[in-house]
Amino acid sequence: MKILVLNCGSSSVKYQLIDTDSQIALAKGLVSRIGMSESVLTHKPWDRPEIKVSAEILDHIVAVEYVVSMLLSPNHGVIKDKNEINAIGHRVVHGGEEFTDSVLITPDLMSALRSLIELAPLHNPHNIRGINACIKTLPKVPQVAVFDTAFHWRMPPHAYIYGIPYVFYKRYSIRRYGFHGTSHKYVSDRAAHMLGKPLSELKIITAHLGNGASMAAVDSGVSIDTSMGFTPLEGLLMGTRSGDLDPAIILHIMAREELSLHEGNTMLNKHSGLVGISGVSSDMREVISAANSGNSNAKLALDIFCYRIKKYIGSYWAAMGRLDAIVFTAGVGENSSVVRSLSCKGMEQMGVVVDEEKNSAATAKEMDISGPGAKVKVLVIPTNEELVIAQDTQRIVEERMAGGAVPTQ
Ligand code: ADP
Repeated sequence: MKILVLNCGSSSVKYQLIDTDSQIALAKGLVSRIGMSESVLTHKPWDRPEIKVSAEILDHIVAVEYVVSMLLSPNHGVIKDKNEINAIGHRVVHGGEEFTDSVLITPDLMSALRSLIELAPLHNPHNIRGINACIKTLPKVPQVAVFDTAFHWRMPPHAYIYGIPYVFYKRYSIRRYGFHGTSHKYVSDRAAHMLGKPLSELKIITAHLGNGASMAAVDSGVSIDTSMGFTPLEGLLMGTRSGDLDPAIILHIMAREELSLHEGNTMLNKHSGLVGISGVSSDMREVISAANSGNSNAKLALDIFCYRIKKYIGSYWAAMGRLDAIVFTAGVGENSSVVRSLSCKGMEQMGVVVDEEKNSAATAKEMDISGPGAKVKVLVIPTNEELVIAQDTQRIVEERMAGGAVPTQ
């Protein structure tokens, strides 16, 4: 099947057209600055160079129309007819407690998705906008929602209930949900493949370290705990997000600085993390480069980033009672030997040994970087969230076709 995978943000649409038989992305690209001046579309067919087009793209409907016209373009396209797109898979950030698996999008489902906006006001509205744009542009093509939260649905209550009055769980659904589920799922499957054992026999810690970062304890293929919580703000230090902190700090700063709810939210989500501590950048490459040039705050940000990863490794190891592998993935995890090295340092006695030569050589491909005598494998695995979304979309569409016709919008 050819599946169009879409990840819609407030002003961007990331896309890939994936052939699930060959598992190849026939084309990938990004529409950015939607609704702003100088919108740009970058498009890369698998066998030809990337192109960049400037256009006026006022909303997500126009963005999706541009994506489809690019896929069909005589010079840069990869399909001849839009009917070749068999289905569309959407990344939807929050599935709440209701969606524990991917689902076919129907009019009923849309109202359920809208009811989840309250849980993810920064993400879900844009995902919904993308779905509506596809309903308008490609009305006959079945669409599937694949949730970032779904992989974590089997966490036990002692991992997902917070230490606040229980009534708030009941009243407002406040609990840990976890995110980056497609990535944690993909890399834990690949880790089992690399280790040559069934996932059902393995205890793995996965570290998805991108601009947003989260870790998961994957026991026998089940996420039993994860570092992001009710929102993607909790857990590791991130590019611009604080991660874990004493909740009283927020109240204290908001009172002292007389911040509104919106300002408090912006401070925690946009001005904290690597950029907030280093004062240099949210981009790990720039933080590392500044640290190497002697910037002490950049060094501190890097140290905090890695120390927190190590703390989560320790706690998830204890939670699972044994550990077979630690997996590093996403932009930082796949590319930064410094972060991998610092995060694992000091755990040699516990069986975590990194071979620094292999570590420095590991880039953009699956690699075991553990050293001699390691009891716990340390693996670098490039993530592929789009492939998981495409495969899930195919599964749901095929299940529906087996059970009757796929409803069109
Ligand atoms: P997103 O969460 O936006 O998908 P990515 O997974 O692409 O992000 O990760 C982006 C992060 O990866 C940035 O902080 C970037 O600096 C970092 N990164 C990319 N390459 C390297 C590298 N060689 N060394 C350190 N960090 C890197």
